[in-house]
Amino acid sequence: MHELSLAQSIIEIIEHEMKSRPGARAEAIGLRIGALAAVDAEALRFGFEASIKDTPLDGMRLDINITEAERQCLMCDHRYKLTALDTPCPQCGSSDAIPLGGDELDIEYLEVDDGKS
Ligand SMILES: [Zn+2]
Repeated sequence: MHELSLAQSIIEIIEHEMKSRPGARAEAIGLRIGALAAVDAEALRFGFEASIKDTPLDGMRLDINITEAERQCLMCDHRYKLTALDTPCPQCGSSDAIPLGGDELDIEYLEVDDGKS
């Protein structure tokens, strides 16, 4: 249950942030997840929604933005997108390559309604 514990750590971050904003309401959180981060977005969404049910965060939105992974081939310098860790270079077939992202897991934004509008 990797996604469930991930959902719970995200919720802890939100709760921590909301403690410094009394009276405000968290509306949405945006996550950026690399295609290689081995996170099942739907499982994460399910775990998140189940975990905030009947809490002050109930009803907030989870936006998941999956970013594609790229590699640069060490043999021919070709840059290509990959969908699995062992994708070989489509140009020369080499699997010696430098990863150019794709395993990130970042919180991009937290939308908060501070009740003043
Ligand atoms: Zn190549």
